[in-house]
Amino acid sequence: MPTLEIDVLLDAATDEERPAILRVAYKAGLLWQCLNPSCGLDERLRSDHRCPDCGFDRDGRPIGDSVSASYGPVPDELLTALRESLVEWFTERGRPLPDAVSFAYTDTYESHDWSDWGSLHFGGRTEPYCSFDDSGVGEALIELTGFEAPRWNDQLTIALPG
Ligand SMILES: [Zn+2]
Repeated sequence: MPTLEIDVLLDAATDEERPAILRVAYKAGLLWQCLNPSCGLDERLRSDHRCPDCGFDRDGRPIGDSVSASYGPVPDELLTALRESLVEWFTERGRPLPDAVSFAYTDTYESHDWSDWGSLHFGGRTEPYCSFDDSGVGEALIELTGFEAPRWNDQLTIALPG
């Protein structure tokens, strides 16, 4: 693991040597810096897709809408309906609004559907298994399945207004 070696190097370095080691590690692509100006985290492993503090990706983009390439393109009105029903769901329950919610493919004997269990993203932290059964969110997901049934492993992430 290159990280262990970088840790050893950084531990052994003096305060003057440390920035040079980091510079070389960034140049070699072993580490990357979070580009979110309000995020304090400045060292990430190359293998991390998102900053674990704020959720920005390596290109400095906050978590946003994304859907598997094999699915869609999804009409805007269906995404809007899902987004609005999610905001309503959290607001009605007085729960903090996550930055985004992800849904996954699920199947039964008869059909392939979007699961009404979602993963909640708060920055880089993810809380799995939130049930949206029997709500406007569930209905919006049924609409989406009606538009196009997801295939094995399809994923859908909806960003919520901050
Ligand atoms: Zn960050």
